[in-house]
Amino acid sequence: MQKRDDNKARCRRCGDCCRDGGPALHHEDLPLIQDGTIPLTSIVSLRPGERAYDQPAQTILPLEAEILKIKGRDGKWTCAFYSPEGRTCGMYDNRPIECKVLFCHDIDPLAQMYTKTRLTRADLLPEGHPLLELIAEHDEKCDPKHMEKLAMAARKGDAEAGTALKEMVIFDMEVRRLVPEKSGMAPEMNDFLFGRPLRVLLRSMHITIYEMGDSIRFGFQA
Ligand code: SF4
Ligand code: SF4
Repeated sequence: MQKRDDNKARCRRCGDCCRDGGPALHHEDLPLIQDGTIPLTSIVSLRPGERAYDQPAQTILPLEAEILKIKGRDGKWTCAFYSPEGRTCGMYDNRPIECKVLFCHDIDPLAQMYTKTRLTRADLLPEGHPLLELIAEHDEKCDPKHMEKLAMAARKGDAEAGTALKEMVIFDMEVRRLVPEKSGMAPEMNDFLFGRPLRVLLRSMHITIYEMGDSIRFGFQA
């Protein structure tokens, strides 16, 4: 979110901030999730160690804590609830707290509350939920920081790191294939349950995954 230097200190509802990305969700937004205004299929979990755009800092930083965020659309971060045609928000009257607080001419109110009262997956999945154990195992085996280290080493030709990265990516892909298949859950739930696929995180490091039967290979771009 850029601080826009137009002299008029009121929101013109231009939608630029919605195109920059949807909001992270906070405890104040819980009723919107509970009443289905924001379905879990519209949420993506960003896990600690992932690099993500920090609105107040206006740069990409590794996350220190988990964030739940409204998904993007059309392969971009443009908020899934934003209609580019009508330049409107699909839930403007009930929009999440960050959207209410955000004002591009004065980002201090957003900065003040940005890291406070953030929702996490644990807030939305009840204790004893059958997938909690698998989510914890996935977080441990597919840790974004570890993935990044392995990817950097693999790029330099470290075969052991390449093998470990391959095992990590295959586990991530298998979890995302099997959970919807066995549970009947919508595949769109995967981004909430397990965060962004590792293949997406690797793409941002200019590494492409090619599937070859039961295995994969990496393509390292400059
Ligand atoms: S707050 Fe968002 S919608 Fe309002 S003027 Fe700024 S960029 Fe546009
Ligand atoms: S929820 Fe509405 S106001 Fe908030 S970013 Fe999305 S489209 Fe914009």
